[in-house]
Amino acid sequence: MKHVTGLECIVCGETYDADQIVYTCPNHEGVRGILEVQYDYDAVLDAFDAELDGSIPSQWKYRAFLPVHDDAEAVTLHEGGTELYDAPNLSSELGVETVVKDDGRCPTGVLKDRASSIAVTKARRAGRDVVTCASTGNAAASLAGYAARAGMDARIFVPAAAPESKLAQPLVYGADVLAVNGTYDEAYDLSLEATEAFGWYNRNAAINPFQVEGKRTVGHELAEQTRTDPPDWVVFSMGDGCTIYGGWKGFREFSELGFVDDAPRMLGVQAEGASAIHDAFHEHDGVDDVADTLADSIAVGAPRNTLKACKALSESDGTSVVVSDDEILDAESTLGRTEGIYAEPAGAAPVAGVRKALDEEIVAPDETVCVVVTGNGLKDTESARAAADDVHYVDPVLDDVVEKFGPPETS
Ligand SMILES: *Cc1c(COP(=O)(O)O)cnc(C)c1O
Repeated sequence: MKHVTGLECIVCGETYDADQIVYTCPNHEGVRGILEVQYDYDAVLDAFDAELDGSIPSQWKYRAFLPVHDDAEAVTLHEGGTELYDAPNLSSELGVETVVKDDGRCPTGVLKDRASSIAVTKARRAGRDVVTCASTGNAAASLAGYAARAGMDARIFVPAAAPESKLAQPLVYGADVLAVNGTYDEAYDLSLEATEAFGWYNRNAAINPFQVEGKRTVGHELAEQTRTDPPDWVVFSMGDGCTIYGGWKGFREFSELGFVDDAPRMLGVQAEGASAIHDAFHEHDGVDDVADTLADSIAVGAPRNTLKACKALSESDGTSVVVSDDEILDAESTLGRTEGIYAEPAGAAPVAGVRKALDEEIVAPDETVCVVVTGNGLKDTESARAAADDVHYVDPVLDDVVEKFGPPETS
């Protein structure tokens, strides 16, 4: 991996060898998500010969930028390469020109597939046969899918209250699913304890510095897809804060390399009931670590990547907003109704965030916005039912249809 120069602590600047499996900086026991992978961009560019022509079969187009060994065989289900849709109906409803990057179309239905592909590729190259993670649901399902692809075992920890479909999906992929009677934060701590006790490979994005690196490819793609006309704002929801930093780091790299004309400002969106990154960024006092929101993928009380998320917001001259659960559900139905894009609540939250940012005059109506849908609506049909209109039940007789729509016109 001559293109990877090391892991740098973003707090104290200490560097570590990238081939160690180091999760945290030893100088900052207990502070997570602070090691950052460093690259030698001359070496990266020597190996990168793809055309930035907008044709992206998968994130592995950017392999030269990924922290994997040259001889590692990629474990892939063709993650990334997701559509960037123009969204005229949504734009006119929101009152600002909006495009949508739909990562709900990744193989397991979530942007996290970008990171899982890297994690499992690295774990297999390192000769590991068990991978683990803690998850509000999506990372677990994603990791389980990639472990299955690689012929490895996945052992995953989720809060017992995770939506049914997120528990079912990793089971179908053959994972051992441990549903922890407790919060995501407790499931997380247990996964770390088990990682240490059993020596498994831990994919937790919040501590494994390589995870952010896979998520960078969403930023690379956005830069490639908007080269001469990048949006003013890119909007992500934030749970642990790893995704938004990954997206920012990727876009920033392509902008620094001159592949795209400008870098956007990042807008991070959190739920009112789980707003720790927003509170840290705006230096609010008296922050507690409850996580109370139906957007389960961002129901994180104690985010592990707060520092990196805040770095994305400040480096990009961006900011954050919070939205209510009702606003999130409304965003879910708006996205579906206006553009045919089905998002889970955390995936739709950016749309609610754009509304809020327009209200608060953070985003101006003459700017352009890209919302990143991070997860597919099929992941959580229960919330979808709450977001949308009720089903109309009928007996199998035409009269009941007439009752609903009125009598048919006769010609
Ligand atoms: C995990 C997840 C997020 C948030 O990502 P973080 O890295 O935890 O901030 C957002 N949306 C969906 C659908 C997710 O699964």
